[in-house]
Amino acid sequence: MASKGITVLGSTGSIGRNTLDVIAQHPDRFHVIGLTAFKNVELLADQCAKFNASYAVSGDPALTSSLQAALSDRNCNASVLSGPQGLETVVALQETDAVMAGIVGAAGLGPSLHAARCGKRLLLANKESMVIAGELFARAALENGTTIIPVDSEHNALFQALPDHFNGDLDACGVEQLILTASGGPFLDATDEELLKVTPEQACNHPNWDMGRKISVDSATLMNKGLEVIEAKWLFNARPDQISVLIHPQSIVHSMVAYRDGSVIAQLGMPDMRTPIAHALAWPARIETDVPRLHLHQVSKLEFSQPDLDRFPSLALAFSALESGGNSPVILNAANEFAVQAFLDGRIGFKDVPALVERSLQAATWEQIHNLDDVLEYDRVGRAIAQQEMQLMSDRNV
Ligand code: NAD
Ligand code: MG
Repeated sequence: MASKGITVLGSTGSIGRNTLDVIAQHPDRFHVIGLTAFKNVELLADQCAKFNASYAVSGDPALTSSLQAALSDRNCNASVLSGPQGLETVVALQETDAVMAGIVGAAGLGPSLHAARCGKRLLLANKESMVIAGELFARAALENGTTIIPVDSEHNALFQALPDHFNGDLDACGVEQLILTASGGPFLDATDEELLKVTPEQACNHPNWDMGRKISVDSATLMNKGLEVIEAKWLFNARPDQISVLIHPQSIVHSMVAYRDGSVIAQLGMPDMRTPIAHALAWPARIETDVPRLHLHQVSKLEFSQPDLDRFPSLALAFSALESGGNSPVILNAANEFAVQAFLDGRIGFKDVPALVERSLQAATWEQIHNLDDVLEYDRVGRAIAQQEMQLMSDRNV
């Protein structure tokens, strides 16, 4: 068995650290080619030294010399690259066999899409890039023979529950529904008044999953599930009516595929990202992880219910952006990234997050997307509209 060269985009984040944890357990199977981070050069240098990485990349070019110094302190001779160009260079290296896309937000689009265009196996956690540029990924995969393996736990579950011969035609495989499960986040049973007072710390304190701050807020508003609905469309070539969402607070059933003969195939496991990460890294093999084993008699109760779209409008907004197509998912994602950051910075309240996304979608003009430049342009436009709408909301409140 030849060892696979892995590049981890966003190695200092939650997905990145979990990926390195799995890699560390399998030194004979995987070796690290490139590691990348945005600001945390100290942790990046620690990781490069520990995994003997060939390349260290800081997403922020201003930190190149600090990264160089941090590597020298550790006697690590990884080559230093920086900025968007550095990220694209490291994924394209001949020694890179697979790329873990673990950057958060639209910032991950450039290097993830470049990896797909270079025909690298793409292990995709960075859902925002698929939401805004799904069609470009689908085209890149087709033209370059790229295998995209979803790491997002729901999509990884669907990938496991679909037949091995699935080739993008759900109808031909007898699939009726892709059922995405959602924990419902920390405020599943909160009243409207309680939602008004939610703080960033409360929103980031997810009951089942330990994740980065942006996705934690998305989970609390249910926008995370909305983004995942759009992600599912592109990963599995699904029509909107073939995707549904089910609240499942225990996060044990990670998602299900319902077939036309009445069978429903689910993937279960403890809520720990190292399982989908190990699956994606080793696919089609299965490798050991330290993930605690699932003992259903200890869980004892698995509950399911319909999502409440009145209290959590983000999910409805995402379904409607999916139906509209064109630049709507790009505006949705850009406005959401802006709104989540504004909430984390204490500039708007928790319930303002979906309100701002809705207003931004209403204010934007529908346009077709043809290429990467269009995506980047509407990402910029979506953020600018959200900024204006936030100002209008605050003027109205004073
Ligand atoms: P995180 O905030 O913990 O880590 C983000 C990583 O991206 C960090 O390494 C950071 O340095 C890097 N980064 C941030 N901005 C950047 C920029 N402008 N340029 C270059 N690098 C940048 O986030 P996370 O929770 O690990 O999530 C990463 C992605 O995976 C997100 O798209 C998220 O939706 C998805 N995801 C995460 C989980 C999870 O359990 N954390 C589960 C499913 C999907
Ligand atoms: Mg998920």
